[in-house]
Amino acid sequence: MAATLSIGPLGVRGLQETQKQLLHYFKSERIHPALLLTGPDAETKNKLAVGMAKWLVCPKRIQDGSFDPKCTACTRIERGVHPDVYVLSDPEASSIKIESVRELCYQMGVASMEGGPKVCVVDECHRMTPAAANAFLKSLEEPGSDRYFIFLTTQPGSLLNTILSRCLQFRTNPSAESEEGFEKEEADFEQMMTEFMESENTLAIKKISDRESSLRFLQFLQRKLRASVYGRPSPFSTRDEYQNLKAFEAALVTEGKLRTNANHNLLIENLLIKHFTKDAQL
Ligand SMILES: [Zn+2]
Repeated sequence: MAATLSIGPLGVRGLQETQKQLLHYFKSERIHPALLLTGPDAETKNKLAVGMAKWLVCPKRIQDGSFDPKCTACTRIERGVHPDVYVLSDPEASSIKIESVRELCYQMGVASMEGGPKVCVVDECHRMTPAAANAFLKSLEEPGSDRYFIFLTTQPGSLLNTILSRCLQFRTNPSAESEEGFEKEEADFEQMMTEFMESENTLAIKKISDRESSLRFLQFLQRKLRASVYGRPSPFSTRDEYQNLKAFEAALVTEGKLRTNANHNLLIENLLIKHFTKDAQL
């Protein structure tokens, strides 16, 4: 499906609207040092962050956002080996620890290796522990000139205020094609949960076959549970508020475990049996 999407002005397939919006913003040349990209598609957001890093760092970038494919700076950014572009991304880790943030902030504080701007990208930044998020405080308040922090998250609702309040946020709107896929999957997940809660039989969720769809399923649960807790309609609106809050926390913990543990089926089954059956534990 992704192959049918066209390439946007920051060199990324898909997310056309976001790319246009960002390019327009970048051209203003008064770029906020901390940017936050939110949205459901983690992979495209990562590619977008690379496109943004190129725009900020590349000495040969042209105003329309196009890059010379032979540019060595861009090639190194793309390969993750540019000395002034740091990416903190570890999908296997259950959380982002304070040590990693301290190291990153130290690197952002020292002189640029190639004399240009420095950029750091923090993937799935909602996974920072509170101590790790606080370790960013000083760097975000006094970033120094030509220092840019790009935070990415699929879960802005789980983000600590420390980060949220200091960032300029861009929502990545999925393109029509991927939005269609996203909505279809949401509808499938919703139907699976309705079936599960009626039958209390985990066969209802057998369609969730791999790790990636397990992760998206957990994020679906988190979105819907959070909606219920805030009084918005969701498949869980009729359930007890406290029960939904407990289930929300459990879904976050399960997401962390899923990133370190291969047995996604067992994790999801445990979560559903513990939190979504009539005898659910409180
Ligand atoms: Zn370049």
